[in-house]
Amino acid sequence: MRAEEAVKAERHRFSDVLETLPAYVCLLTPDYYMPFANRVFREWFGYYPDKKCYEFLFNRTEPCEICETYSVLQTMKPHHWEWTGPNGRNYDIFDFPFEDTDGSLLILEMGIDVTEQKRMQEELRAASLYTRSLIEASLDPLVTVSPDGRITDVSDATVKVTGVPREQLIGTDFSDYFTERQEAREGYRRAFAEGFVTDYPLTIRHRDGHLTDVLYNATVYRDTRGNVAGIFAAARDVTEKRIAEAELERYRLHLEDLVKQRTQELDRSNRDLEQFAYVASHDLQEPLRAVAGFVELLRQNLQNSLNAKTTKYMDFAVDGAMRMQSLISGLLEYSRIGTRGKEPQQTDAGAALKRAMANLQTSIRESGAKIASDSLPAVYFDDVQLSQLFQNLISNAIKFRGEQPPRIHISAVKLDDSWRFSVADNGIGIEPQYAERIFLIFQRLHSREEYPGTGIGLSICKKIVERHNGKIWVESKPGNGSTFYFTVPDKGETN
Ligand code: ADP
Repeated sequence: MRAEEAVKAERHRFSDVLETLPAYVCLLTPDYYMPFANRVFREWFGYYPDKKCYEFLFNRTEPCEICETYSVLQTMKPHHWEWTGPNGRNYDIFDFPFEDTDGSLLILEMGIDVTEQKRMQEELRAASLYTRSLIEASLDPLVTVSPDGRITDVSDATVKVTGVPREQLIGTDFSDYFTERQEAREGYRRAFAEGFVTDYPLTIRHRDGHLTDVLYNATVYRDTRGNVAGIFAAARDVTEKRIAEAELERYRLHLEDLVKQRTQELDRSNRDLEQFAYVASHDLQEPLRAVAGFVELLRQNLQNSLNAKTTKYMDFAVDGAMRMQSLISGLLEYSRIGTRGKEPQQTDAGAALKRAMANLQTSIRESGAKIASDSLPAVYFDDVQLSQLFQNLISNAIKFRGEQPPRIHISAVKLDDSWRFSVADNGIGIEPQYAERIFLIFQRLHSREEYPGTGIGLSICKKIVERHNGKIWVESKPGNGSTFYFTVPDKGETN
């Protein structure tokens, strides 16, 4: 009885194990009955000991064609296969020939639900297919390189650019395919050392000798444990870019050349013009002086025989000759600024102003002008021209005075990299629309009867200032006086 009890207990434990197993376990007879099914099986498919398996599982009258279970009865060897159950789920099936206690032959079958695993595998495959097609879609040659510098994978574009089939590329040294092997090695070494490289220039050599300039961008990639597994490198073909750049450079040089040529031409023609103005005005002076002299002699000789009309004509002639003389000497002076100017040097602007005022002392006294000046800096300037500049501006300020006696103020302000001088007066002022015109040669706003002059003074000022790389302009309101400004670079070069 005790032995019987022991067997019972053993059987009980055995069936408990089968019942708790998460896989299904069943026994099948050679004629398709299922005398035993564990809990998992029953839960999934039910339990019908008096029906054949294909009947209760698939509602069939014949065994399933795809069933591999019964092959074990022929081979008497375990068999492993995959089965899709009536619930549509996938099972890993293990079948074993099994001898029952009474010696009859059975099949022991175990099934494990692998639906989730299969789905995940499927997804993984799809994902890797997807990434692969992304890789292949890239026009840039892509390659992965192992830490010892061997190619582990390539994209189609790499095959194309090297002319070497994929199987031959994989396993060979990355540096084999470049004109500069050492540089290539240095490139992947740096990627491994620093984690990445950007725009690393290399030249790929095709098997047929054709070269492709590329820029490599590479980053390391890691395995699931986070260890560096290799680098992923993408090459960008920059041949076109290089060609375009070279072309651009060619154009730039050409343009520079043209500009240089034009500047030279311009310089030359400017010089020619200056020369011409100088020669013309210089040579015109002599005959003009003769004309003026003889007209004056004529007038003296004819003094008594002239009537009112002819006296007037004679006066016109003398006047015209004199005016022409002053125009010509103005022109001469203008043309000399460039040709006869001195090299600029450190010049005390206050001293230059004093010289200008000394030259103007008569008109200052006669007009009762009050001239005041801030302390002025030393600037890099042709000293003669600086006092000429002050002299022209101050004499204009006196000439174009209003009702009040002239008050003139000169000052200088330091800007970023220049000095800005100003000469302010309380004279008649200038209509803003003429503010630029007055700096052109022979341009004046008044008749000679109103204000004498030739219209050369300000154009001389402009030429002097520009020769020292500065600017000159006026700010004024009619009736409210004018302020003339000019700038002098801190230490400028002259033209
Ligand atoms: P000019 O003094 O011989 O006329 P400029 O070239 O020196 O020649 O001046 C050109 C014109 O600019 C002058 O005719 C005058 O109309 C105007 N102008 C120059 N300076 C002043 C000033 N300080 N106030 C008003 N107008 C001026």
